[in-house]
Amino acid sequence: MKTQYYTAEFLFYEGKFQKNLVLEVSEGTITQVVPVSKVKSQKVRDLGNVALLPGTVNTHNHSFQSLVRGFGDDMNFFDWRDKGIYKYSLNLNSKDIYVGALFAFGEMLKQGVTTVCDFFYIQDGGNDNARAVIQAAKDVGIRLVLARCFYDWAKAPKKYQETPEEARKRYLELVKEYKGNPMVTICPAPHSPHAASETMIKTAFEVAQETHSSFHMHVSEGKYEVEMIQKEKGLTPLLYLEKLGIVTDKMVVIHGVWFTDSEIALMAERGVKLSYNPSSNMFLGDGITPIQKMLDQHITIGLGTDGACSNNKTSIFEEMRMAALLQKVYLLDSSALSAERVFQMGTHNGGKVLGLPIGKLEAGHRADFVTLDLNCLEMQPLQNLHKNVVYSFSPRAIQDVYVQGKKVFSKGEILTVPEEEIIQRVKKVTQGWRPSPLSPPSRGGVRGG
Ligand SMILES: [Zn+2]
Repeated sequence: MKTQYYTAEFLFYEGKFQKNLVLEVSEGTITQVVPVSKVKSQKVRDLGNVALLPGTVNTHNHSFQSLVRGFGDDMNFFDWRDKGIYKYSLNLNSKDIYVGALFAFGEMLKQGVTTVCDFFYIQDGGNDNARAVIQAAKDVGIRLVLARCFYDWAKAPKKYQETPEEARKRYLELVKEYKGNPMVTICPAPHSPHAASETMIKTAFEVAQETHSSFHMHVSEGKYEVEMIQKEKGLTPLLYLEKLGIVTDKMVVIHGVWFTDSEIALMAERGVKLSYNPSSNMFLGDGITPIQKMLDQHITIGLGTDGACSNNKTSIFEEMRMAALLQKVYLLDSSALSAERVFQMGTHNGGKVLGLPIGKLEAGHRADFVTLDLNCLEMQPLQNLHKNVVYSFSPRAIQDVYVQGKKVFSKGEILTVPEEEIIQRVKKVTQGWRPSPLSPPSRGGVRGG
């Protein structure tokens, strides 16, 4: 691939939207950002009246859950899980899981997501399902981090469960298979303190160290988990994990809604990162993560959509808006958590959370970027692009999406897998699925899912 030069009305560089800059891309990587005057004009492609910005980074998702979108809405958690996820995910084979991932990733590309971390837990006794997710990412053209789940909670569906030894062996097999692939990264993911045993958690941590990888884990998503771990282990969830010796800078916590001040201080001290999923936390009634408190202690926070049946959108631009608005109402302060901060969370910090050179237009970073049409009504008036993008933005403004220097979405059309084909495949897989009637009382107990 020869060197490409792009210019646009505005280019997001060094934390600002700037004019008269050129992005130089070679072999899927940004090689430099320079003033227009430094490059021969005939070489430069002017993308027109658009803003060129880094692609957004979705640090947490469960792609197969897109297939059950709408099946658990407005239900208590257990109905959401049992009548949506558990009911339908158990019948999915590798081909269906491929379709679910194609669906989720295709929709994400349209929303300007260029990298997604898929936290995947339907292993079904091997790696074929995980490979199906990876294949879908490849076919759609999105960058993927596969957080391969380590799950052994005995009450969960059998298809999710493995022994620590099986999980370890299969994880290492996948790592070996995709080593050196610039578009795919594999990392271990012990499900949560309640759905992975001590041995399972320690095994995942050990293989993370062995493969020089970070690891992802749901921690303190709901109040129930804090109460349960406290009752069983005599400690709050992060302090319990600290006792297991796994709280390090390789840890990525998903949610962290109910962390105490001492747990937040421990996160900061160890360099633990957070994947924050505001819409999902609201959708499931989980609570509000004290983001401002974490930022005050310099904790790195990226954004995630979570699965599409607990959101139900798949847009990180949307999560930026939600994150900002939720902290404002939580702190009763309209100046809390600015558009600039949440924009950084959805881009560059997402890259830091996933440990990849993405989310920033800078030499050495991957050429993953998005152009926004500045003629869009929702972008008017053009006063401050950060504010427009976070607060008034519409996905209609997304014009082109590039991943690894390749254009994968343009003017409403996914260029890799036709949208109509994805729709037909989703219809086929979900044919005959019907939402179940609600069960009356809300139940307590262990979650999972
Ligand atoms: Zn999750």
